[in-house]
Amino acid sequence: MSTNDSVWFITGCSTGLGRALATAVLEGGGRAVVTARDPGTVADLAARHGDRALALALDVTDSGRVAAAVKEAEAAFGRIDVLVNNAGYGYLAAVEEGEEDEVRALFDTNFFGLAEVTRAVLPGMRARRSGHIVNVSSIGGLVAFGATGYYHATKFAVEGLSESLAAEVGPLGIKVTIVEPGGFRTNWSGPSMRQSATVLDDYAETAGARRASTLATYGHQPGDPDRAAEAIIGAVRADEPPLRLLLGRSAYDIATARLDTLRAGFEGWRDVTLGADFA
Ligand code: NAP
Repeated sequence: MSTNDSVWFITGCSTGLGRALATAVLEGGGRAVVTARDPGTVADLAARHGDRALALALDVTDSGRVAAAVKEAEAAFGRIDVLVNNAGYGYLAAVEEGEEDEVRALFDTNFFGLAEVTRAVLPGMRARRSGHIVNVSSIGGLVAFGATGYYHATKFAVEGLSESLAAEVGPLGIKVTIVEPGGFRTNWSGPSMRQSATVLDDYAETAGARRASTLATYGHQPGDPDRAAEAIIGAVRADEPPLRLLLGRSAYDIATARLDTLRAGFEGWRDVTLGADFA
């Protein structure tokens, strides 16, 4: 269980959920390493909290910086208790419209960056036999829709990696929580969103319509980043933190509907499934 004495290390704090979380940790009296690609975007936040805050430059796709930032954080505070892998963004494209360089860049941030920061922080947590890794996935890490297939692929990858990680580090005293927000009022569906230049008419009614509806959510998303931050802090402080934490009603509704359809689909084909083993 984390306490107010815990040291948090949060990626992607310039805006949105990362900034809200860093703000809540610091305003609650905690200590935080507040990282951003441009540390100037978090300088004001760090400056308000004196030696309880450290602002660091961190692009999670920059291997050298990942190792250096973790070392700088550990040198400043002696340890990292809670790692929050929050940095990430979306990409709108039907699968066929996807551009190789954009897809690889998306995976570099949303998946490979998260994995590298995790590997850099784990030795210190293992040595102390304590710590908590919070991976910000998405409801889109459980359920996929048109136009965001590559984004879902990164978040499904985060979910799989995180489940394995939980099984491996649990016995070493380290907790893992996967956070699955629905629509939250951040830059995600606005300025941060990337889109394929290629748009194929055949997908107008599917991916095209979902592109438009996703962009239209910007500024109207029901999720409150400050409340998400409090929920994450509460989960980390819980005696028994959840492996998965859905955030927002839409996430809850979509996830529970998916449970029902998964079960119905498995049961509908049960006999075929069971018949595939040796007689
Ligand atoms: P946001 O306001 O766009 O914030 C995204 C943050 O990630 C920004 O600080 C951005 O920094 C940072 N970032 C992007 N690429 C990075 C990189 N290579 N290295 C370091 N930082 C990087 O959106 P958000 O909603 O807060 O997103 C936070 C996380 O929540 C993401 O993982 C996102 O996928 C997830 N999520 C969001 C929603 C939602 O509806 N908002 C729903 C489900 C999941 P820059 O300012 O430098 O670009």
